[in-house]
Amino acid sequence: MSSSSEKIELMISQKRIKIHVFEPSQRKIWTAVGFGREYWIDPDSKYCSCPGFYFGYINGKKSCYHLDSLTIAKGEHKSEPIIFSDDEYMDFVSGLASDLCCI
Ligand SMILES: [Zn+2]
Repeated sequence: MSSSSEKIELMISQKRIKIHVFEPSQRKIWTAVGFGREYWIDPDSKYCSCPGFYFGYINGKKSCYHLDSLTIAKGEHKSEPIIFSDDEYMDFVSGLASDLCCI
């Protein structure tokens, strides 16, 4: 087993993939609580805010273990939705964005 698939297994078994659902619009934001910090994942555009994704992307690798974990978590329904109200959406997004550091 490679270290990356071990990480994916941990992400799933420890429920580190979170889906934040905003009501009533049903907007969704996925995050991965990594080992040390939380990353923003966008499954539609296949984007992750982690450095591994960034550096992989430069080298032609278009995924990271967060994105891979999310795909599995989605398929197995292993992510727990956290419900927010639409009023909180902007605060949530700006909080997440300010947490992302420039690489
Ligand atoms: Zn990632």
